[in-house]
Amino acid sequence: MTYVILQPCCNDASCVAVCPVNCIHPTPDEPEFMRAEMLHIDPATCIDCGACVDECPVDAIVPEDELDDDDSRYLALNAGYFDVHPVDDMPMVQNKSWRKGKFSDLTVAVVGSGPAAFYSALDLHAAGAARIAMFDKLLTPYGLARFGVAPDHQSTKAVTGLFRSLGMKKNFTLHLGVTIGEHVTHAELLQHHDAVIYAVGASSDRRLGVDGEDLPGSHAATEFVAWYNGHPDYANAQFDLSGERAVVVGNGNVALDVARILLSDPEKLAKTDIADHALEALRRSSIREVVVVGRRGAAQAAYTNPEMLSLLDVPDLDVFVEESEVAPDGVTTAMLEAEDTESAVRTKVALAREVAERAPSGASKRLVLRYLLSPKAIRGDGRVESVEFVRNRLQFDTDRRIVAIPTEETVALDAGLVLRSVGYKGRPVRDLPFDEGRGVIPNVDGRVIDPDTGEPIAGVYVTGWIKRGPSGVIGTNKKCAVDTVDALLQDHLEGILTPAGLPAESLISIIEDRAPDALDYEGWSRIDKAERSAGKERSRPRVKFVDVESMLAVARRS
Ligand SMILES: Cc1cc2nc3c(=O)[nH]c(=O)nc-3n(C[C@H](O)[C@H](O)[C@H](O)COP(=O)(O)OP(=O)(O)OC[C@H]3O[C@@H](n4cnc5c(N)ncnc54)[C@H](O)[C@@H]3O)c2cc1C
Ligand code: SF4
Ligand code: SF4
Repeated sequence: MTYVILQPCCNDASCVAVCPVNCIHPTPDEPEFMRAEMLHIDPATCIDCGACVDECPVDAIVPEDELDDDDSRYLALNAGYFDVHPVDDMPMVQNKSWRKGKFSDLTVAVVGSGPAAFYSALDLHAAGAARIAMFDKLLTPYGLARFGVAPDHQSTKAVTGLFRSLGMKKNFTLHLGVTIGEHVTHAELLQHHDAVIYAVGASSDRRLGVDGEDLPGSHAATEFVAWYNGHPDYANAQFDLSGERAVVVGNGNVALDVARILLSDPEKLAKTDIADHALEALRRSSIREVVVVGRRGAAQAAYTNPEMLSLLDVPDLDVFVEESEVAPDGVTTAMLEAEDTESAVRTKVALAREVAERAPSGASKRLVLRYLLSPKAIRGDGRVESVEFVRNRLQFDTDRRIVAIPTEETVALDAGLVLRSVGYKGRPVRDLPFDEGRGVIPNVDGRVIDPDTGEPIAGVYVTGWIKRGPSGVIGTNKKCAVDTVDALLQDHLEGILTPAGLPAESLISIIEDRAPDALDYEGWSRIDKAERSAGKERSRPRVKFVDVESMLAVARRS
């Protein structure tokens, strides 16, 4: 028997190190890791020891004989990976003995408290750093693990349990409600620490660049996600859900998340930590159909197979694919015939074609996946009424990359709500360089560089989405964080870092002066406890506070 990895996998690779036969891949040391949809267990090598199960923070690993019908496809999804990447070719995980016992004098500030920040802090703690201070502009930690991951993906949010383990450590301090670049400057942070790691994420959205984009009724998916997840800055946002159809432009996992939330039974969502205001609005929603539109074909769709599979499990929902949009074409056929095409890509095409052939079940709600369409304009008289798309066809460019070429054909879809979901984008941090085009802080392997000279700026590092752009799941940030911490530790050993000139206490008085509402880990623990106990009363994981005043009132209660 083998064990199988399922949809909640967040790629943190905790299971990899404990597997006695090296059968979980890709490992963080393999080139495929940063692009992997999930990790996979090779059924031919797995010895059924179960060691990986205890390590998984999100309960994503199950024995084959406990797979239910909905999850049975994951057996093939796991095994398929090894058709292209046989286990024999793969190296064992690297060891880090060079780090042992050398960093007991090191002090580091980590900006942000999302997954990349916590993975960095955990790794610095494991390396024995003397002091790790974490800062977040919000009064609650965990970044997109709290405000991005969909409320019906509770098992994924369980990863925050791992982060919580750091909270009580003596060498760790948390400063919530402190914006770096506003309450504390970058220079001040560096004066008080040997090094600073920025893990500030990518909280802005990319624009479509078409007419009508700012009409009422057209919103960035980033805002909709923040609203249903109870982000305090979006608690008062309004979304008109009175139309029957919503169109989501873009087809990544965020697009599928927002579509699924719009179409799920609100009473099912009522068992999650969705914000109360969103739940009430969804209960009144008239939306019956969501159309998710991608500009290329099914093989190039930005969503992952686990997310597509989870759509097929939503009760009272029919998923539709236009047969003509996934019919074999020369480019896709050539790609599928190539030996090195990833099994995940083959699965994407097979799944889309399978859905296209399905007869509708008569469910009351519909999710329609459209391909090969690029938005041309959002139309409406004073508010959104429809979206016009241009039909694309696929073609190989001169580098044999597959590109979408617009044709003369246009397609119009009526819609009462449009959500634009074509990517998150980083925001600049004051006094740090910024690459506007890519929306990242320019860096080489996590070392922030001066764009004029290309040279690293001593003591300044980045990790997570602000380092590499908005791609990858929670666990992808672990490898990213460990790489950055490796660079920082090596620089420390080589004497490149300037030791902190000022003691930690003087930074505390700056914070007390400029951010009087800032909270520490204890303050957050009170909020966390209050949210959980409110949730317990209503059989929910937690009921989130969505306004700053309530959070502060609870945090200050002794
Ligand atoms: C809608 C959505 C759904 C997702 N769903 C999943 C999922 O189901 N499973 C999964 O594995 N992954 C999921 N992901 C991906 C995952 O959330 C990201 O990989 C991860 O959160 C990126 O981590 P990060 O630490 O780089 O950024 P973030 O999580 O964005 O954290 C950045 C933090 O920095 C703080 N910050 C920003 N600027 C400053 C400043 N100047 N001073 C102080 N603090 C600052 C922010 O407040 C924030 O807390 C999802 C992402 C999105 C957008
Ligand atoms: S059950 Fe054991 S052998 Fe199989 S993947 Fe998990 S750790 Fe490896
Ligand atoms: S979440 Fe982490 S530990 Fe669990 S299966 Fe995925 S990579 Fe392995």
